[in-house]
Amino acid sequence: MTARIIRGTEIGPVIRDEIKEETARLLEQHGVVPGLVTIIVGQNPASISYVTAKQKAAKELGFYSLQEDVPDDVTETALLELISTYNSDPRIHGILVQLPLPKHINETKVLYAIDPDKDVDGFHPVNVGRLMIGEAKFYPCTPYGIQQMLMRSGITIDGAEVVVVGRSNIVGKPISMMLVQKAEGANATVTMCHTGTKDLAFHTRRADILIVAAGRPNAITADMVKEGAVVVDVGVNRIGMTPEGKAKLCGDVDFESVKEKASAITPVPGGVGPMTITMLMLNTLRAAQSMTGKI
Ligand code: NAP
Repeated sequence: MTARIIRGTEIGPVIRDEIKEETARLLEQHGVVPGLVTIIVGQNPASISYVTAKQKAAKELGFYSLQEDVPDDVTETALLELISTYNSDPRIHGILVQLPLPKHINETKVLYAIDPDKDVDGFHPVNVGRLMIGEAKFYPCTPYGIQQMLMRSGITIDGAEVVVVGRSNIVGKPISMMLVQKAEGANATVTMCHTGTKDLAFHTRRADILIVAAGRPNAITADMVKEGAVVVDVGVNRIGMTPEGKAKLCGDVDFESVKEKASAITPVPGGVGPMTITMLMLNTLRAAQSMTGKI
């Protein structure tokens, strides 16, 4: 069997078109423009490139978008005050603080300072709790992208054996919690694996849907995958440079061998990665709609 390739580069633009339409309707019917502020502390090149991409996407969708470039010697108090300003700014519906933050700033304290109703990354403990009890306001963007890719590719999640490799707070735990809910696009039986898992292959071989977010190249090889499984590779690993001087990337799954066994698989790059920013934009739109009571 050669797997169907599920690409975020194809599904993402479809969702962005939907967001664009809804954004135009929100403006036309209610005079509201979704507003996103991205706050970046210091000059970390990776952070700058992520934030630039988020700002570009927001502008293309017709959002009101602002970028705050904060020097890396900013005090924690000043950063908390800046967040507080945007918490009470009615033009802003989503606040995103790009991580990592410099060592002298308590990351947890900063993330907790964001109004949970403007927490479009979905990392605030209030939103984590809402997700846990099946009343999510925002889904964290990468897990949300994974769920949308599965649903929009016609993959049955209801009743599936889902195995997630990784238990981070940004991918492994939230996607597990989302797919186990008694809800549409969920209702799966979920197993979460990590470095303490005794026999990883025993679990991965049982998976109808295998989601891998370990951050380890070749963590999953063909012998660890059931014939006909759906494999979602979240990993992004830098493995050198291309002749054009760009970073060469690979996922956590041995793509070439696993694609001969799986029924569907996401590639790296071009799979889950391009979905994350799109889902951030959708969360921002939802925040704008809900704050104005228009959904
Ligand atoms: P993380 O915080 O490093 O967590 C990795 C998880 O995988 C941990 O729970 C770890 O277990 C587990 N793990 C690592 N090696 C394993 C192994 N050999 N067997 C079983 N479990 C193993 O990473 P993350 O933030 O979740 O990210 C995971 C990967 O996804 C990274 O490559 C990251 O770059 C990528 N990512 C991509 C996107 C995107 O495409 N938009 C977004 C986020 C992350 P322990 O808990 O026991 O240490």
